[in-house]
Amino acid sequence: MAATIIDGKAVAQRVRAEVADEVAKLDEKPGLATILVGDDPASQVYVGGKQRATAEVGIEGFDHRPPADVSQEDLTALIEQLNSDPAVSGILLQLPVPDHLDEARLTTLIAPEKDVDGLTPTSAGLLAGGKPGLRPCTPSGVIVLLDEAGVDVEGAEAVIVGRSNLVGKPLAHLLLERNATVTVCHSRTRDLGDVCRRADILVAAVGVPRLVQGDWVKPGAAVIDVGINRLDEGLVGDVDFEPAAERAAAITPVPGGVGPMTIAMLLRNTLTAAAIQHDPSAPRG
Ligand code: NAP
Repeated sequence: MAATIIDGKAVAQRVRAEVADEVAKLDEKPGLATILVGDDPASQVYVGGKQRATAEVGIEGFDHRPPADVSQEDLTALIEQLNSDPAVSGILLQLPVPDHLDEARLTTLIAPEKDVDGLTPTSAGLLAGGKPGLRPCTPSGVIVLLDEAGVDVEGAEAVIVGRSNLVGKPLAHLLLERNATVTVCHSRTRDLGDVCRRADILVAAVGVPRLVQGDWVKPGAAVIDVGINRLDEGLVGDVDFEPAAERAAAITPVPGGVGPMTIAMLLRNTLTAAAIQHDPSAPRG
């Protein structure tokens, strides 16, 4: 195998340790409120992990678990209460929410300065406009991993497969901010392999196991696999790892690549949110 394996677990651990050091210096501890509606098992695992990580770095956790049949009005009231609670620096509404709830409206209610997931229309608009703001966690984690791997982003040809609001689109803006030349692919892209072969930086955020073939990787490229696919054989990414690693200069594994970065960046965002609320002129992200 030729590629350097980018160790997301180690990088995430370092980011978490940095956040813990910063939190220890504060007189008032930041607080992270999570809202998990209902009892979806996967969401319970995600929120449990976020709350554990929060406690580990000294951030105060507020764990709200309304029942699956909670009304839009009651959830609205909860978000508004958290918006005005000075002990709460960041608010995370775990998605998806049950079908009877209006997810977009609920997300919009979160105060932008507490939007640690970076998914409200205000945060998305600030990012698209190149203005400071809280950035979505997974794409921010991708940028940190590229920096850690020593990848020269400026002027690089970056190809992202996937255009979701959660990963692909915000990552395109973050890479543009760093002066990459960005192409975003999706399910209607023609000749996907040919487009990927142009990439100095190739990011897969699709949700299709091993979609990105080894021979789609330009020799010497950096390959970041955001995909998490649960198969009988275990977790696999969106990149066919072994053949891709033969050609790439650097590649993230699944698991142990992008995944651990998401929670680490959530903790960092919570620290940033607390700083903004303390001093509105503090750097945002
Ligand atoms: P999503 O909302 O389902 O979006 C998937 C994107 O992939 C869409 O833009 C879709 O195109 C595109 N796509 C689907 N099939 C394709 C194909 N055959 N060829 C080219 N493009 C195709 O997914 P997501 O939320 O962005 O998540 C993507 C993956 O990342 C999932 O495996 C998810 O579990 C993982 N993920 C991981 C983390 C983490 O912390 N590591 C965080 C978030 C997500 P259209 O727009 O045309 O439909």
